[in-house]
Amino acid sequence: VPVIGVLALQGDVREHVAALVAAGADARPVRRASELDEVDALVIPGGESTTISKLADIFELREPIDKRIADGMPVYGSCAGMIMLASEVLDGRPDQRGFAGIDMTVRRNAFGRQVDSFEAPVEIGGVPGEPFHAVFIRAPWVERVGDGVQVLGTVTGGPSAGRIVAVRQGNLLATSFHPELTGDARLHAYFVDLVRAAR
Ligand code: GLN
Repeated sequence: VPVIGVLALQGDVREHVAALVAAGADARPVRRASELDEVDALVIPGGESTTISKLADIFELREPIDKRIADGMPVYGSCAGMIMLASEVLDGRPDQRGFAGIDMTVRRNAFGRQVDSFEAPVEIGGVPGEPFHAVFIRAPWVERVGDGVQVLGTVTGGPSAGRIVAVRQGNLLATSFHPELTGDARLHAYFVDLVRAAR
């Protein structure tokens, strides 16, 4: 059973742990470098990317996470976690910094300030069945992807139709929305399969 850590600096850590367990993984919070050493993969939760960035430095996790990613560790980031995995962030705070991540440009709070939160159906390539009931909370979208990045999902209806909201580059996976909040463990199961294949 793969051991998957959830970066527990800030954000909806418990919900990701529960979704990972539902998807058949052994899941645990990661707050220290020594805890990072014990996991096969990492989830970066939704929350606030500026805060997660700051705390990653304070908890001395930035370098160890960058290094594990360079070594091929699978990482899944949702929402703020997606921002932390982006090589370029628009509308970010000047001092926020992500991990060595996915070759893409994301825009923070992209869906508009007045729309704090909305829901839309999203189909994810490689995940069979119904479209996801995707929950977006002050979410980013992806404005550019590099050659090595696979687009897994776009918004299919409403004013934001066509916007990229799920991507994968090698062992790195990111979504703008929060599957951990809707009791749908299929995305986490997809990630657990990816982690199994990477081992
Ligand atoms: N707006 C947040 C950020 O910039 C992300 C919101 C979320 O994770 N739900 O990090």
